[in-house]
Formats: sequence, C-alpha cells, structure tokens
Amino acid sequence: MSVRVRYAPSPTGHLHIGGARTALFNWLYARHCGGTFILRFEDTDRARQVERAEEKMIRSLRWLGLDWDEGPDVGGPCGPYRSTDRLPVYREHAARLLETGWAYRCYCSPEELEAEREQMRVRGEMPRYSGKCRHLTRRDWDRLDAEGRPYTVRFRVPEGRTLRFRDLVHGDVSFESDGIGDFVILKSDGMPTYNFAVVVDDGLMRISHVIRGQEHLSNTPNQILIYEALGWEPPAFAHVSLILNESGKKLSKRDESVAQFIEQYEALGYVPEAMVNYLALLGWSPGGEREMFSLPELVEQFSLERVGKSGAVFDPQKLRWMNAQYLRRRKDEELLDLCWPHLVQAGLADPRSGPEGRERMLALVRLYRDEMEYAAQLPELASWLVEGTGEMGPAEEEVLSSPAASVAVTAFYREAETLPAWTPGEIQNALKRVQKATGLKGRALFMPVRVAATRRGHGPGLPEVLAFLGRETVLNRLRSLVGERWADQVDIQTQGETR
Ligand code: GLU
Repeated sequence: MSVRVRYAPSPTGHLHIGGARTALFNWLYARHCGGTFILRFEDTDRARQVERAEEKMIRSLRWLGLDWDEGPDVGGPCGPYRSTDRLPVYREHAARLLETGWAYRCYCSPEELEAEREQMRVRGEMPRYSGKCRHLTRRDWDRLDAEGRPYTVRFRVPEGRTLRFRDLVHGDVSFESDGIGDFVILKSDGMPTYNFAVVVDDGLMRISHVIRGQEHLSNTPNQILIYEALGWEPPAFAHVSLILNESGKKLSKRDESVAQFIEQYEALGYVPEAMVNYLALLGWSPGGEREMFSLPELVEQFSLERVGKSGAVFDPQKLRWMNAQYLRRRKDEELLDLCWPHLVQAGLADPRSGPEGRERMLALVRLYRDEMEYAAQLPELASWLVEGTGEMGPAEEEVLSSPAASVAVTAFYREAETLPAWTPGEIQNALKRVQKATGLKGRALFMPVRVAATRRGHGPGLPEVLAFLGRETVLNRLRSLVGERWADQVDIQTQGETR
C-alpha cells in the first residue's frame, strides 16, 4: 500500500506550533517512506474564518521547508483540496447514508435540543441526542418539509458495539458506541461537520495514515463508524501527544506569555532549520543523546514507532538554545541579513547607509554572533555599544576605584595613540605591551580599560569591542575619564592634544 498522508488544518489563523508539528510529522513520514504528502484546508467553520489565513499558513509551512505533492495551490488528482469546494461531494455521500439507513433526518430545533440536554444534565446523565427523530418515516419527512422545517442529517450510531482500533502511538484503543449518541453529519445549511467531511475526504483521497493531534483520538470512533457505513477500510491512525506548557498543562493558544505561532518566530529572527529540528523532537525521539538534526537527517530517521505517548513540553528556552546553535553555523553575511531589519527598526542601522554602514553592522554581528540566540536580540544586546555610553553601575565604579586602574588606563591610552592600525590584533598587542610595562595582568588590566572605554564591566572580547568603537571614540572616552577622575595624578591631556 502506498503511503498517503495529509495535513488538514482549519484556516483559522496563523500556523501554531502544534499544527506545524503535525504537518512536519506527516511530511517526514511521507518523505521517509517515499509516499505522498497532501495539504488540505478544512474550512467549513465559516464563523472562524480569518482573512488570508490559507495564504499565511502556506507561507509558514514553506518557510519551514515543507512542500506538498497535492494541495489547494498545487492541485492533484484527488482535488479539490478545500472543504468548501467539495460540498456536493459531502452531500452525495450523506445522501448515500440516508439511502442505506445509516443516517436520518433530524427536525429537532436548537431550542428543543438544548431543552433535552438540560433535562439529561438534571438527571445526571451525559447529555447526548435522545434519538427522537430516529424513527421518522419518509412520509414524516415529506410532511415536515411541507411545513418548511429545516433539518440536519444525523448518523445512526449502532447500539451496544465496542469500537476497537489500534493506534500506532497509543496501542489498542476502544470506545463503547452507547456513549456516542447519534451525531450530526450535515448541518441544516448543508455544511458537513468535521467528523463527516474528514472521513469523506480521507477516504476519497486514499489516505493511508492519519497522523494528527491527540485531541482527535476521541473523534476516531465516530469516524470509524462512518468508514464502515460507507463500506470503506479505515486508514491507520497515529495520534501524536499533546503539547504541554512548562507547568505540565495543555499549552493554550490563548496564553500570550509564550510565542506559539511560527510567524512570530520568523519575525524574531529564528531560522527554519532550528524550528524543524526543535519541533521534530517535540514528541518524537530518534533515541540516543543527539539533538541536532538537519531536515534530510530527520527524513532518514523518522518513524512513527518512536513517537511518544506522553505529553511533550514546549520549552522556549530550549528552542532559543537550539536556534543559537544554528545561527552560529551561518556565515557573518547571512547573519547580518537576518539581523538587518531589526537593526534598522531599532535605529542602529541606517537603510540609506552605503557599504560602510553595512561593514560596521557586520562588525557588530561578529561581536555578538556567539551570544545571540535570535536575530531580533542583536539590537537589545548591542545598542549600548552603538549608541554610546550610559551610566556606570556600582560594579564599574568599583573597578575604577582600584589603585591600579589609572595606571592601566593611562598606559593603554599611550599605546593606543601610536598603534599602527586599529585592529583587534594590534589592540591585543598594545594590551600585551601594557602588561609588560605595568606588571598588571588579567582582569586588573582589562577591566579598567573596558570600563573606561565602554562604561560597562561586560561585553564581547575587549580588543574586538575597542576595534568596533574606533580609535577616536576610545581615545576621547579614556581622555575624558582620566580628566574627570585622575586629573591630579596623571595628565594625558597634553599628549592627546599634540598627537
Ligand atoms: N481540521 C482538523 C484540525 O485542524 C483536522 C483534524 C484531522 O487531522 O483530522 O484539527
């Protein structure tokens, strides 16, 4: 049997990490088996439609590096691939079930149904449809139609059946049919319900494996009944574990404290290879300690057997860490392309600046490439360096209050003035000479120079930072600091001026 799998989102917004993971697992499985991956939009819930949602989801899926063999935008032999373009197909299959008695018309009004449910609740029963319209004859239908009464089509759930299936993730699963209640397959406006449309579509599209979120496990018995009624063999099912938040609860889309949509990560300057690597490990594990996998490696290793049953915790910190690993593999120029819009937005880079401006930002990227976890972080990390000096904190004050500080700063100043070139290598040499001349080394030497030049006790490597700031800026800052603090001890003013 050839493998045919699908990702079937409702286009109700942006691509969520849960949906992206489902899409990825389906895609990996298809590519691993040399099968077919299908994209299908289940858009019958008109109330939840969002403008351009399909387009946005397609964009995010492609950004992740996924492609599909059949879908609304690429076509295919089993189309159309959008539910609202398939309405006649659902109606035809509903008519078939009405014909064979697997379905019946239900004329109960929403108010009647609500009253019925309320009574059941009062009696302490699980609310479900009572089956009131089950026994209406065709003559009754004609009469009610003549009265202009709208109807839904309900599936006639057989009584007393145990519905068993083998889930590829959860193993043997069973549900009692008596708990289900006759459910609507076609609404009074002619729209199919999810459970019905999904079976008609999966059946006609010859889907071999349904890989989807665990929240659909309890829909599966309803769907298996519809397969049986239509005389079709059900596909294999694999229900992938829930995604949990860090407190172990189901991750809620409404929780705005954590970014949950692929677009948000793209906007923050995450890279797709990190996203797919992270998402793949959200509920699947290849075994062993290794964590970094490229998309082709994931394709090679992916199997449904290694998809876990228990909830997978979405850990944004881990994702950040993984993204940082991938950023480090990028060339400086590529990193700059990722960071550029963020630098412009923060006002650190000028879009009209020529090659020089770009070169300067490239230097900034080099300074922070090992610290940055996502591109949008660069302005946060580096604005102090570009924009100038801020107030010193107590730790910095302490550095400058050490007796050796003025010695280190003035000695470095003198070396800096005469350096043949203002490069990290030359600056390093200057620091070495200062070390020799003053006997100061390590922090005792670097910290006063660092604080004097940047007013901060931490940052990227000192020679690199000084090179980035430029000789003029560094000398000016050192001079004014010496003037403010140690004017009575040392005088570098004259030398600075005669330079
Ligand atoms: N439209 C459904 C969803 O987004 C698809 C479920 C399924 O794959 O059957 O959850």
